[in-house]
Amino acid sequence: MKAYRASLLRFADDQSPLFEADGLLVVGPDAAGRSVVRAVGSHDALIDRFPGVAVEDLRGKIIAPGFVDMHIHYPQTDVIGAPAAGLLPWLENYTFPHESRFHDDEHAAEVARFFFDELARHGVTTALTFATSHPASVNAAFEEAQRRGLRFITGKVLQDRHSPDGVRDDTEQSLIDTEALIQRWHGVDRLGYAITPRFAPTSSPAQLRGAGELAAKYPDVWIQSHVAENLDEVRWAAELFPAARSYLGVYGDFGLLRERAVYAHCIHFDAADRALMAQTGAVAAVSPTSNLFLGSGFFDFAAADAAGMGYGLASDVGGGTSFSPFHTMLAAYCVGREGQSKTGLSLTPGRLWWLHTAGAAKALGLDGGVGNLQPGNEADFVVLDPQATPLLARKTSQASNLDELLFALIVLGDDRVIERTVIAGQ
Ligand SMILES: [Zn+2]
Repeated sequence: MKAYRASLLRFADDQSPLFEADGLLVVGPDAAGRSVVRAVGSHDALIDRFPGVAVEDLRGKIIAPGFVDMHIHYPQTDVIGAPAAGLLPWLENYTFPHESRFHDDEHAAEVARFFFDELARHGVTTALTFATSHPASVNAAFEEAQRRGLRFITGKVLQDRHSPDGVRDDTEQSLIDTEALIQRWHGVDRLGYAITPRFAPTSSPAQLRGAGELAAKYPDVWIQSHVAENLDEVRWAAELFPAARSYLGVYGDFGLLRERAVYAHCIHFDAADRALMAQTGAVAAVSPTSNLFLGSGFFDFAAADAAGMGYGLASDVGGGTSFSPFHTMLAAYCVGREGQSKTGLSLTPGRLWWLHTAGAAKALGLDGGVGNLQPGNEADFVVLDPQATPLLARKTSQASNLDELLFALIVLGDDRVIERTVIAGQ
């Protein structure tokens, strides 16, 4: 067992942030040997219960749950910041050429190492990640995540049409590969598999049908894809699937809407789409830096809440412009504020932070595991330095309440704030 004395941020069951100015976090193995939070609360109230346990003194720092990124593409680490005129040219000119290199084990392993280093530098401890259409890309990511002890989910991209040579896969073989990867990796250590059709326009009906059959056969495996990101893409999906009620409806028709199904973007939805998400338990990965960068549109938080649809935050690197959860939370705030195309609102700092930690974990079906620092949660956390820059030090020292402190970090924070990232107590 080990204990840390610091300020502590965690979340109540009602999603509200809880802050302990002089806190104690005690971590140690549970009955199954997993490293978990054993106790958390005020230092003075808890310290006598743990005589003999080593306490690291981190006063002046803030311990918070590790961030959970609901949608990111590790093979697009080198695509971040690519200049392109919107989603479809961006895919054709940058993304597909980069992804075509991931048939090579060594290239995939090198990018995976850099990617996980970058996640750690930014305090991200769990991610739901796209690989590429090559099984080698999946194996490389899982091997590296396993070595680091991460709770991590990825899957082989399915794309058997409207894709160039080098990334396009074969319908039948893609489904055989997917099932073999599920059997090899899903549930091993802290790893999970996601059935990963890239998006409806790049999969044939036969491939989507096969993906849906696997999703029914393996109900605790995740599903991840994209939907309703950009209007050109929405029109294309409608041409390709004229019988579907909507773009989202395509996924429903093939059995790809259920709990643990995570759809990036979900911008150009109508009320029936949002109701379908809520009814099926599928959730949205809101990717605001990506949506602003590619000019795709604004996620409608108020409409999602009114429909009872689940969602959390995501970077969507490389369409997204930053690995930093602080940048993503700030962009989500700006997208929420936008009030010309939808209802504008102000997401509170605590809500933004919840959506990138405990809320994202809940949307993924991992609540109680990661994303929070309540007793029994897995011991993935970050140590934050609220004085990481001169301006942050000045702003945070003037904060008179928790909202002001958290918002200063959201608006001014980046990787410099992340002093340490702890995975499974290590
Ligand atoms: Zn994406």
